[in-house]
Amino acid sequence: MLTYEQARQTIIDHVGKKKEPRATLRVSVWNALGFVLAEEIKTDREYPSFDRSTRDGYAVKSAEICAGKNLRCVGEIKAGDTVREALAPGTCVQIMTGAAVPAGADAIVMIEYTQRDCDGVKFERAARAGQNIVPRGSEARAGQTILTPGMRLGYAELALAAQVGAVELKCAKKPRVAILSTGDEVVLIDETPGEFQIRNSNSVSLAAQVRIAGGEAVILGNAADEMRDLRAKIKLGLQEDVLVLSGGVSMGKYDLVETALKEMGAEFHFDAVAIRPGKPAVFGMCRGVPVFGLPGNPVSTMVTFELFVLPALDLLSGAEARPLPLLEARLGEAMQEKPGLAHFLPARVEWHGGAPVVKALKWQGSGDVAALAQANCFLVIGAEREKIEAGENVLVLLRKDVI
Ligand code: AMP
Ligand code: MG
Repeated sequence: MLTYEQARQTIIDHVGKKKEPRATLRVSVWNALGFVLAEEIKTDREYPSFDRSTRDGYAVKSAEICAGKNLRCVGEIKAGDTVREALAPGTCVQIMTGAAVPAGADAIVMIEYTQRDCDGVKFERAARAGQNIVPRGSEARAGQTILTPGMRLGYAELALAAQVGAVELKCAKKPRVAILSTGDEVVLIDETPGEFQIRNSNSVSLAAQVRIAGGEAVILGNAADEMRDLRAKIKLGLQEDVLVLSGGVSMGKYDLVETALKEMGAEFHFDAVAIRPGKPAVFGMCRGVPVFGLPGNPVSTMVTFELFVLPALDLLSGAEARPLPLLEARLGEAMQEKPGLAHFLPARVEWHGGAPVVKALKWQGSGDVAALAQANCFLVIGAEREKIEAGENVLVLLRKDVI
């Protein structure tokens, strides 16, 4: 059985191999959050385009300044002012943050280190050449590439694009992810389930996870535990970029997902992973489409999506597969788990004096969505571990959607 790291690598290898250039579209910078960039963005000019003051204070010639020095202030420069005149020897100019430094000045003295009396300014300390000035072109040269294809657009990347006037960005189309739940007991979320039925919560969590991952969810509803219905809905799913199924991959008599996929030509690269929850997770390729069969227990579905579907979506978006957001934390309470499988347990990490401390939450197993809704991370216990003492360092997989 593969470890979860091996299973992730298997997915990266197979999905990476089939990676073709994504179709692209132009997206307004206002709407491009979470897209992956498909072009180079270059600066339109030097950044900054003038020597910029980073402080409110006085523009001076540093060689003229020492503690106790008095100079006459001959003017004022605000951010946005056009500056043509050079600073005359023996004078200073009041200057604001973001304003252009006049020629002849080579330092800004913060207003906090001066005293003003009418036109006179008294300096309390010496000045160093270059202080509080960002020189023209020092952040970026004109025509320099500042964003490259494959970068995921977060708020800083979008601000940078906006800064250089790239108001529309060529982005990779988001991968379309077909979501198909399975199970005779599953009903629509707006139906009232019978006593022995359940609502289809997995399609909701999967759609949210797809969206956070930068994909587009295509909800195919639920297939009965019966070959004809399964086949028909799988066929629809294979028209999308990825197919994610939930349920029907365990050992039960009515777990038919693998059989149906195999009949339709799927090749499986794994059909179990050494993790709990989530052990029966299946990954393969069917007619060129990556297919994931995730176990139906809601927490298993969520964990296996984070571990296995995410890297595939990254690659299909034209980006590199992001590493798992693992963090080292101190274990708050001793724990004992059966060795052999890596555990991903609903847990809460809290920061005590800045240091992360994690505690597993009480739960009733992989059906317990309520426990996960209290969690902000999964506590990861390596397959080889059995007993872990309080105070030991452990890994946690952050729930980035709530943290
Ligand atoms: P399975 O993987 O099909 O054996 O299902 C395992 C457990 O997950 C069962 O208790 C199912 O009722 C539950 N389950 C399966 N599909 C869903 C779904 N779409 N939403 C919520 N729970 C589900
Ligand atoms: Mg089932």
